[in-house]
Amino acid sequence: MENISILGSTGSIGRSTLDVVDKSGGKFNVRGLAAGRNLDLLCRQVEKFKPKIVSLERKEDADEFRRNCKEYALRITYGQEGAEEVARFEENDIIVSAITGINGLKPTLAAVKAGKRVALANKESMVVAGPLIQETVQKSGAQIIPVDSEHSGIFQCLAKERIEDVKKVILTASGGPFLQTSIEKMKNKTREEALNHPRWNMGEKVTIDSATLMNKGLELIEARWLFGLLPEKLGILIHPQSVVHSLVEMRDGSVLAQLSPTDMKVPIQYALTYPRREEALLPSLDFSQIKVLEFYKVDVKKFPLVKLARQVLEEGGSFPVALNTANEVAVEMFLKRRIKFSDIADVVAEIVENHKKRKIESLDDIFEVDRETRQQTRNLLKKRS
Ligand code: MG
Repeated sequence: MENISILGSTGSIGRSTLDVVDKSGGKFNVRGLAAGRNLDLLCRQVEKFKPKIVSLERKEDADEFRRNCKEYALRITYGQEGAEEVARFEENDIIVSAITGINGLKPTLAAVKAGKRVALANKESMVVAGPLIQETVQKSGAQIIPVDSEHSGIFQCLAKERIEDVKKVILTASGGPFLQTSIEKMKNKTREEALNHPRWNMGEKVTIDSATLMNKGLELIEARWLFGLLPEKLGILIHPQSVVHSLVEMRDGSVLAQLSPTDMKVPIQYALTYPRREEALLPSLDFSQIKVLEFYKVDVKKFPLVKLARQVLEEGGSFPVALNTANEVAVEMFLKRRIKFSDIADVVAEIVENHKKRKIESLDDIFEVDRETRQQTRNLLKKRS
C-alpha cells in the first residue's frame, strides 16, 4: 500500500485522482490534501479518505474548517506554506501536484525536494522553473511522472528508449472549441463558449488555455524540460479526436504513439501505479466506432500564442515566466468577464514583446519577474476592460 498526498484536491485533477484511489481496491492511502476555497468538498473528501493533514488557501477557511471538523485527529493548515507542508509530509510516497498556475510552483518544489515520486499535473511549474526543478530532481532523487495526457503519452513511448534515439516528438492538440470558428467570430466568444470544450472535461484555466491553444504552447515548454528535448525536436499537430496523445518519431523512422480514452483518469492512474499497470477504469477504445484519426497543422494566424510560446522557448531566460504570468492574469480577467476573448492573445503578445530578458537563477528571480509582469499585465488590461 502506498501513501499519497494531493496538492489541489478539490480541483478537476484532484477529484479524478481521488476517484482513481477510490477504485484502486485499497492500493493507496490518502495522507494529505491541499485545497483552495471549496470547504464543503474538502470536508467530504476528509470524511471519506481520512487524511492526516489538510491545507486550505486562506486562514479564515482553515479556522472555519477546524470548527466544523472537530471530530477528526487532523492537522489543519493554510496558505502556500500549508500546501508545502502537505507536500513534505514525511509519510508520503507519492505527491500529486495539481494546483493550477504559478501558485503550484513552491509546493511542487517542496515535493521534489522531498525526493519522492511526484505525479506532475501543474504544467506551469515546468514552464517557469524547468531547469530549477530538474536540478532539484538530480539532488533529491525524486521521480517526476507526468500527468498531462500528452506528456504521459510521450513518457510511455519513451519508457524503453534512449532519448538520443528520438528524432521528433509531436504533441497533439484537440484544437479546442473554436477549431472551426473564424478569426472574426472568435474575437467575442463568451466565457461559456470558451469553457465548452469538445473533448476534455478539465478545470477552467486549462480549458480557456485550450481555447486559445496557449495550453499547447505551455506544453511545448513543459516537454522541453520534462524530457530534456531541444526545441527543434518538438512539434505540434491538431488532432480533433484526442485519441492519440502523442507521437514519437525515432531515428530509424518508427513512430511510437500512445492512444487511450479521453479521460484524465488514464494518465493519473499510470502516474500512480508506474511501472506497473492496473485494471482500466474506463471502457476500451473501440476503433471501429472511432473510424478516423485526423491530423492537421496549427493555424498560427488564428492561434498566435502557439508561435509565441515557441519563440519564448527559444529565447529562454525570464521569457517563459513573463509569458506564463501574462497569460494567467489575462485568463483570470476573461473568466471574470472583464475582457474579450481576443484580448487574451493580444495582451500576452504585447507583454512578451516588451519584456526585457533577465537571467533566472533562483526562485526569487522567478517571483520577481512574476510580480512585475502581473502588474504590467493588469495595467495593460485596465485600458481594455
Ligand atoms: Mg494536456
